Formats: sequence, C-alpha cells, structure tokens
Amino acid sequence: MTSDPVDPLRPANAEDVIDRLVEWLSIPSISAEPAHRTEVADSAVWLRQRCLDAGFTSAEIWETDGHPAVFARWDGAGDEAPTVLVYGHHDVQPVDPLEAWAHPPFEPVIVDGECRARGAIDDKGQVLYHVEAVAATLAESRMLPVNLKLLVEGEEEIGSPHFEQLLVDHAAALDCDVIVVSDTGMISPDIPSTDVAMRGLVAATIELTTSSTDLHSGSFGGTVPNAARHLSRLLANLHDDQLRVAVDGFYDDVVPLDDGEQRSLDEQPFDETEFCAITGVAGLEGELGRSPLERIGSRPTAEIVGMSGGYVGEGIKTIVPSRATAKIAFRLVPDQDPTEVMRLVDAWVTKTVPPLVDVSITWHGGVAPVRSSTRGWAFEAVSATIASIWGAHPLLTRVGGSGPEETIARRLGAPMVFLGVGLPGDRIHAPNERMVMDQFWRGFHAARKLYGELADRWASR
Ligand SMILES: [Zn+2]
Repeated sequence: MTSDPVDPLRPANAEDVIDRLVEWLSIPSISAEPAHRTEVADSAVWLRQRCLDAGFTSAEIWETDGHPAVFARWDGAGDEAPTVLVYGHHDVQPVDPLEAWAHPPFEPVIVDGECRARGAIDDKGQVLYHVEAVAATLAESRMLPVNLKLLVEGEEEIGSPHFEQLLVDHAAALDCDVIVVSDTGMISPDIPSTDVAMRGLVAATIELTTSSTDLHSGSFGGTVPNAARHLSRLLANLHDDQLRVAVDGFYDDVVPLDDGEQRSLDEQPFDETEFCAITGVAGLEGELGRSPLERIGSRPTAEIVGMSGGYVGEGIKTIVPSRATAKIAFRLVPDQDPTEVMRLVDAWVTKTVPPLVDVSITWHGGVAPVRSSTRGWAFEAVSATIASIWGAHPLLTRVGGSGPEETIARRLGAPMVFLGVGLPGDRIHAPNERMVMDQFWRGFHAARKLYGELADRWASR
C-alpha cells in the first residue's frame, strides 16, 4: 500500500471539505436568470445548514424582495473580543456560452489541483473557507477568538439591488467592529496583495435636441443646427489632449496616493504585451503621465459607453437629425463624491453646448468610491495574516470596479479589510471558472489566523 505524500496545506478532513465544496457548487444559484430562482433559495438553505453544522450559534435566511441572503453568527467570545463581520455572496454568474466549458459548470471536478465550476472562486469557495475555518477552530477548542458574523448575499452578481435595504432592516444584528471582504483576489501566490480601495461610479444619458423633427438636408442643411454634430463635438471635448477628463473641477477631490501605496504600485508587475493580447487592443492609451495600473485603480475616468442619433439604418437618408443621445460612465476614486461629480458634469455640459441646443441629462444612480485605511489594528491584522500564510507582506492594490462594499462600509461604519485568494487566471464570470485548491487551503488557514490576529490587535490597540 502506498500513501499519498503529505500536503502540509490540507487539513486532516480535507476530503470532507472538498465534498461539501462540490455539493454547494452543484447548486446553480444564478441570480440573473428567473428560471434559477428556486436554486438560489436552495443555495441559501444549503449554506444555512452548513453553518449550523459547523457550530455557529445561529444561522438564518434573510428574505429580500429579490433573492435571499444568509446570516450566521457565533457569539461566544465575550464583550471584550471584537465582532468580525465576514461578507461574501452565494449567487453566481450565468454560464453561457455553455459549449466553451470543458466540464459542465454545475458538475464540479478537481483536476490539476483546481476546482472547476461556476462559483468556485466567485464566491462560494471563498465563503466556504471561512465556514470551514470556523468549524475546524470550534472542533478543536470550542472557542473562536472573536465574535463572528457571516453575511452572504444572494444578489451580488445582479448589482445587489436589495442589499442596502437588507443592511437597514437588520442594522442591529449587523453591528460589528471590522468588516472582512472575501470576494477578491491577489496578484499571485508569490506576490500576495490585498485591496485597499474600490472605485465609485456615476453614469448619465445625455440627449441633445436641435429641432422639433428631422429636417431635409437639401432644404435646410447648412442653416440649422445638427444634433449629431453637436453631440460629437461635446463628446470629443470630454477629454483634453492629455486624455484627462475636461470637466471643470473633476480632479479637485482626488486624493493622491500616499508613499506606501505609490511604492506598492511601482512594485506590481505589469505585462503590457500580455494585457494587449487579453484585451485584443493594438496598444494602450489613457491619461498621460500615469501607468496603466495607476489608471485602472487609482485614477478617475470618463468613458463614452454608447451613442446614437439621426439615421443609422441601411443605405442613406438625407436628413439633418433633430436628436442625438450618448451614455457616459464615470469611475470615481477617493474622495470624489458622486453627487458633486454629477453637478460638475451638468455644469460642464451646459457650458459646452451652445444655447440653441436643448440638453437633457438623466443620471442613473451613483456609487461612492471606498477606501480602507492602510494603518490601524484591522489592516495590520490582515497584513500580518497574509505575510504569515503567503510568506510576504501584501502589496496594496486598488480595484477598478465598484461593488456593494461601499454600501457595507457606509452603512456599518466599521473598518474594512480584504482577504481574497482569487488569481488573475481564475476566469471569473467566464467559462471554466476555477479555484486553485492550494489557494483555497491557504484561505482556510488565513481565515483562522486572521480571527486570532484581529483579536490580538483589538486587545492591544
Ligand atoms: Zn463575487
């Protein structure tokens, strides 16, 4: 009989944990597709039961006007210990194109040290290493060093439409001293990193009207204003020659990176050739004087996301169009305020478009940027944890996108730290999503370590 070489990362009950991971990932909890509504609910039921079996004091399903969330808590550490809230989500992205998957997305397999399934890394796998960390610690010592709350929503992949209401409805239960987000990644196992900021977002539809109807270009062209021309001119002026956003005052509230973040940014690897290959672009362009990584995470942007106007059907139609429309999205960085940016853009558009053009701007919500402190007990705890498990202190990264993290940080008013084990090659939201199992086990050990580090640093803060 031969025995497998001992993998120091795998706990003794690794096979049981893998069975549970596979079981949960088999539930197609696709929040975007109404046909999967009951499976999102099934996924919540599964998680609630696993939390109870793991030894949480209580675990409940929180219904929303959309898909349910799961809330579990363990309360035994006493008043002196901090209360840690872990955030994740149990819904997953749709799977098409199905034919691009090497294995069916909801029949998880472990191959080449990877778990392949929809939701493996985003985000069930990352939620489960916390649950299993709690289970293992309680089995060993019947105690956690912290009071722990787990909040796992079911609508993250559709933009968390009922999440803020959930946080309002359950504000008392969610009270905590620190928020741990585990829905992110790191640069690589050899270059561990942690996120310290996410961008905000505001978007607008701008409609220009120049006449009550489209006009004959022969009879009227050359004497009346053309809505498409005015829209083109407006959009062409949105950026200056340096490719900076030309809206007056747009950069006034942008906080420059501190030395630590700047150094961290400079140390991050970036392969421009590979980046171009992945994106299919011939070369990069963006704000002059800023590196690509800087532009993605720590600089605000304006993107024209679509435009229409006049005649765009087959052949040609000889008109002067009366109306033209564009959609513009702005990514914001700390400390830009969505409402203030809307005001600045309104003023800039009004100033830029001549009086004979009628302008209407419709804003589509707003998400504020969010930033975690890189000082203080909570950040030190996550930094020490990552150093201990991955062998190097984490570089500090900023997320280009926006998410429910801003809502949690604002509503719960606690410091937020990021423990995420995802890797750039994990194919999130794409066919053949994976979780590298070594990263899963490191996540498991890191979660256990993090609870202890948070307790220690809270006590001596
Ligand atoms: Zn996610």
